[in-house]
Formats: sequence, C-alpha cells, structure tokens
Amino acid sequence: MEKVQMVDLKGQYLKIKQDIDAAIQNCINDGYFINGPEVKLFQENLAQYLNVNHVVTCGNGTDALQIAMMALDLQSGDEIIVPAFTYVATAEVIALLGLTPVMVEVDPDTFNITADLIEKAITPKTRAVVPVHLFGQCCDMEPIMQLAEKYQLYVIEDTAQALGAQYTFSNGIVKSAGTIGHIGCTSFFPSKNLGCYGDGGALMTNDETFAKKLQKIANHGQSKKYYHEVVGVNSRLDTIQAAVLNVKLAKLDEYAKSRNYAAYRYDEAFSKIEGVQIPKRQPNSTHVFHQYTLKLSEVHRNGLKKHLEEQGIPSMIYYPLPLYKQEAFRSEKYHERDFPVSEALCAQVLSLPMHTELDEVQLDFITNSVISYVSSIKQYA
Ligand SMILES: *Cc1c(COP(=O)(O)O)cnc(C)c1O
Repeated sequence: MEKVQMVDLKGQYLKIKQDIDAAIQNCINDGYFINGPEVKLFQENLAQYLNVNHVVTCGNGTDALQIAMMALDLQSGDEIIVPAFTYVATAEVIALLGLTPVMVEVDPDTFNITADLIEKAITPKTRAVVPVHLFGQCCDMEPIMQLAEKYQLYVIEDTAQALGAQYTFSNGIVKSAGTIGHIGCTSFFPSKNLGCYGDGGALMTNDETFAKKLQKIANHGQSKKYYHEVVGVNSRLDTIQAAVLNVKLAKLDEYAKSRNYAAYRYDEAFSKIEGVQIPKRQPNSTHVFHQYTLKLSEVHRNGLKKHLEEQGIPSMIYYPLPLYKQEAFRSEKYHERDFPVSEALCAQVLSLPMHTELDEVQLDFITNSVISYVSSIKQYA
C-alpha cells in the first residue's frame, strides 16, 4: 500500500503529467511569464465552468478577499460579518483595511454561518457579510441573500474550499459557489480542490461595474497603463500557473467525484458508530469535500489522532482555535460563552485524509484504523 497522505499532489500529477509538462514547457518557450495568453484563457474557461459573467485572476485567495473588500468603498470602522470558525484569511484582510470583522457563531452540523446567526450580529454599521463555504459545502445562500437585500449588505463569498460546489434555490435555479453573492473569491493554493503549482487566486462576479473595479484594483489601480485612478495592489496569477489550471480545470468534476467516493466510503464505515458524527449533507448544496471532517463527541479526538499517527495515517484539526481566540483578533467584545458551537467544534473536529488519489486499500486501512480505536476505547469505558 502507498503511504496514506493528507493530500497526494504527486500522485495526481503523474496521471496528467504529459499535459501539465507540455503546458508549462509551452509557457517557457513563449516567454510570456506575466499576463500571457493562458491567463486570459483560464479566466474565460473558469467563467464558463462557473456560469458567471466575469472572472478576474489574482495572486492568491487572501488577495482575492482583500481586493473584493477594497472594491466595496467602505469607511474605516464599517463592520463585516464573518464566521468565528474559519481560516484566518477571511478576517485578516478586513482588519488590514481598517474595517471591523464581526465574528458570528456557526451551525453545529454544517460548520457554516446561517441567515439567523448573521441577523443577530447586524448593526447600523454592518456593510457586508462573508459566507465561507467551509470544507466544500455551500452555506444556505437563499436566506442569506434575502437577508442581505433586506439590510442592504454586500455578500462576498469565500469559495476557497468549495470551487465547483453547486447550490439549488427553491425555484430550482442552480448556481455555483462563488457566483451567488456580489463577489466570489477563491484560492488555487496547491491543496485546494482546484490547485495550481504555487500561489493563485480569482474573483468572480456577474456585475460588470464590480468586474472593472476588481480588475483595476488588482492591477495597481490602473485601467490604462501608467494612469492610476485608485490606490490598488499588484496581484497576478502567473502565466505558468494559469497553464496548469487550464489542464486541471478540465478534471475538476472528475476530482470532485473521487473526493465524493472517498467521503461515501467514510460515511458508510462511520455512520453507525456511536460518538462519531459524519459530516451533514445539505439537501440544497452539493459537497466537493475539500475536507472530510468528523465530529467526535464521545471519542477522545486527540487520542484518535495519535492512534492514526501511529498507524502512519495523517489527520488534521481544522481549526484548533476560533478566530476570536487568535491572539491577533482578541477583543473584549467576544466571550467564550457566546460561541458554544465554535468552542465545541474546535475541541471535536478531525479531518481525515481527503484527496483524489485515495484507493480502496487505503480507504479500508483508514476506516479500519478509526473503527478499531473507537471500539477499543469502548471496551475500557
Ligand atoms: C485557503 C483559504 C483562503 C486563502 O487562500 P490563499 O490562496 O492561501 O491566500 C481563504 N479562505 C479560506 C476559507 C481558505 O481555505
């Protein structure tokens, strides 16, 4: 058996080696390392894949979030609602721009924020909300969009973990994660569902005014070379990365299928085990399983992690701390007692190996290792 990895980028590469090598070699032969034709092509390909009017590529997912926030023309002190249980990038760029991130509790089953939880945190200063489609499943966007309309809020989707996931509205309309709010942001960090071979990111929008603004901000605030209309940033997707992404985008649905198969095998193995809770599926969203995350209420999470480690199976805790407990974001206004769900999740979650290359033998090995630990502690309980 191949050693189990959290993510197997090498194994995935070997299956598309010819196409990737040719794409990269082609960029080197052309010499257009910045803004080469592959970048424009990838923007078009991704826009088509997501069924969205505009895609603007940039340097990474964190930049995408920052550029989106900059495009909203907000004032210092304006509040933006974010989940307390997420990756730090979501809140970081808000704070960096002098805006105020306001953390809210998440739903215990989906790990995502909901309209109800958002509404409780709305104040006269609230200008935007950032639904993070955590671990690969969409937030329940229809009520969130209705709430945003009611309170005139911008919705900036953080789709870094859910590219390719689809959300179905009650009227039957289906939209891709990242194309539902005003602006969607994503990351092509190598381990993401659509990962390049370095850093990369993109913004999505159906609004032409926003599209122009995002493009301008990402490119030093200029729409005409050497004429800078606003203060922007320099954030670009390298041509070589775009070339890699053009190859991999064509595989994204197949990759989602492999991830769903692994998730199905995990579900099947763990769904009846007491104390182990499999990730909940929302009926109105597909899941692309950036992570497969168990909740361990009775089983000792750290004990299981150590047991797996001893078997050579990696696992990860996403995330060990809620945002308000991060030293960088500590504030008087947050109290542990207001976030029982985030607190519990940080103590209970464990993400198992999840990637496109897990084979039957590895899946058996992982599921058996989890089950053997859980039944052994039951014996002594
Ligand atoms: C990865 C990630 C980001 C940041 O992406 P980078 O490309 O690493 O900057 C932002 N938000 C979430 C939820 C992420 O998982």
